[in-house]
Amino acid sequence: MECMKCGTCCTAPDISALRKPVGVRCPHLSADGLCGIYATRPFVCQSYRPDEICLLANAPTLEERVANYLQLFGLAEETQRGQR
Ligand code: SF4
Ligand code: SF4
Repeated sequence: MECMKCGTCCTAPDISALRKPVGVRCPHLSADGLCGIYATRPFVCQSYRPDEICLLANAPTLEERVANYLQLFGLAEETQRGQR
């Protein structure tokens, strides 16, 4: 399937290569949903492919999509822990 440039996978999961915690928007994600360091993005980002998770998490706002994504992966609790 085609990437919708919805920003969910650059916000919801933790990305250790970027020291990015769960639920925090990647600082390299542009307002139009593109990667600001595309040519040098970490391997984990390079190997990520859109799949059915993108459709399952889809919602009108990024906030809702991130919440859905975290729910799907059982990470919602982890976000709450991180905010405490
Ligand atoms: S969650 Fe899926 S559709 Fe959205 S930006 Fe990532 S790969 Fe693309
Ligand atoms: S480095 Fe680029 S592809 Fe990786 S999470 Fe950040 S914006 Fe997304």
